[in-house]
Amino acid sequence: MTQHFDTIDLDTVRADTLGVLNRNHLNSAGAALMPIPVLAAVIGHLRRESEIGGYEAAAEATDRLATIHASIATLVGASAKEIAITENATVAWQRAFQSMSFAPGDRILTSRAEFAANYIVFLQAAARSGVLVEVVPDDEFGALDPNALARMIDDKVRLIAITWLPTNGGLINPAAAVGSIARANGIPYLLDGCQAVGQMTVDVETLGCDMFTATGRKFLRAPRGTGFLYMRQDMLDRTEPAMLDLFGAEVDRSGHYRMRTDARRFETWETNYSTRLGLGAAVDYALAIGIDAIQARCGVLARRLRDGLSGIGSVRLRDTGEQHSTIVSFSVEHVEASIVMQRLTRAGINVSVSPPASTPLDAAARKLPPVVRASPHYYNTIGEIDALVQAIEVI
Ligand SMILES: *Cc1c(COP(=O)(O)O)cnc(C)c1O
Repeated sequence: MTQHFDTIDLDTVRADTLGVLNRNHLNSAGAALMPIPVLAAVIGHLRRESEIGGYEAAAEATDRLATIHASIATLVGASAKEIAITENATVAWQRAFQSMSFAPGDRILTSRAEFAANYIVFLQAAARSGVLVEVVPDDEFGALDPNALARMIDDKVRLIAITWLPTNGGLINPAAAVGSIARANGIPYLLDGCQAVGQMTVDVETLGCDMFTATGRKFLRAPRGTGFLYMRQDMLDRTEPAMLDLFGAEVDRSGHYRMRTDARRFETWETNYSTRLGLGAAVDYALAIGIDAIQARCGVLARRLRDGLSGIGSVRLRDTGEQHSTIVSFSVEHVEASIVMQRLTRAGINVSVSPPASTPLDAAARKLPPVVRASPHYYNTIGEIDALVQAIEVI
């Protein structure tokens, strides 16, 4: 552990991070602080667009633009042809989901931790096509129970779609165990990995997922309004996006449209080149630091935060599961989450509030009020963690 810990040069990464001078930023699950190379990539490209023209700036950046899909592929253990860049994770997820069709009586199996946007789309699919949406029960610790999932499988299950790390706490769902069940039964598996990418090792082979979606702005430290979709090649070969344009397809001489063979058929011709370059810079930055080192340091910081908070009598940790990510959610007795957040903001500490609406199934099952969410990242110091704990003690 110590060895990994030492591999991150904290002075360097903090010198690269303008925000650490202004705030104790413990809101990386909302949007992490971008490092200077990301900022430079975005602003530099925007400047070139204004100086020489948008098409011309893109032409000038051709080489850099061409490496981004490969960088993302390296990050998640895929091949570049299996990656599409999108404007956020929601769009990536919806492009994947909307490319599937369902008949009355088909079943979709999901997790209690499911992100609200995904669940809303399931309900929409249920209303439109009569698909049945069923939630896989949790184990005694509050993580999805793979044995329960295995018992639910039959030939009507058309999709398993779960959230790996929920937005509202430190739970890590057993995504790889779900993957082996999906694979053993030949069922497509769509994994929402938004909160995992950038804080822990992601390998789509180990996970066994056919589709994986993530955002840029969270632990990856990319600009807001960026995300990506991974789709396994054999899934791609039998999948057509619900929405195609002249980038995803072309009209051949016989008047038929022909799709690209790679995952970029899920992209559109027009895109934000500056944020896309920022996303690429963020991925390269994370890879240069090393995901193992990032994961180890996040573990150290999150454990310290959990230990500190659990030593305060009026604090109730809200995380479920046996293993935890660097997202720590909690309540303070008799103080509403929004008031806690307000007081922390006044002390220069950034956290956020997870409302029940962001994870409706879990919030209903656990009767959750809005909870405070603190999410440190590797660039935070032990001192910043302790400052949060002290501020909560005062509250
Ligand atoms: C943030 C989040 C999303 C949505 O990501 P966007 O990039 O905002 O679309 C989806 N799922 C989970 C679990 C999230 O935490």
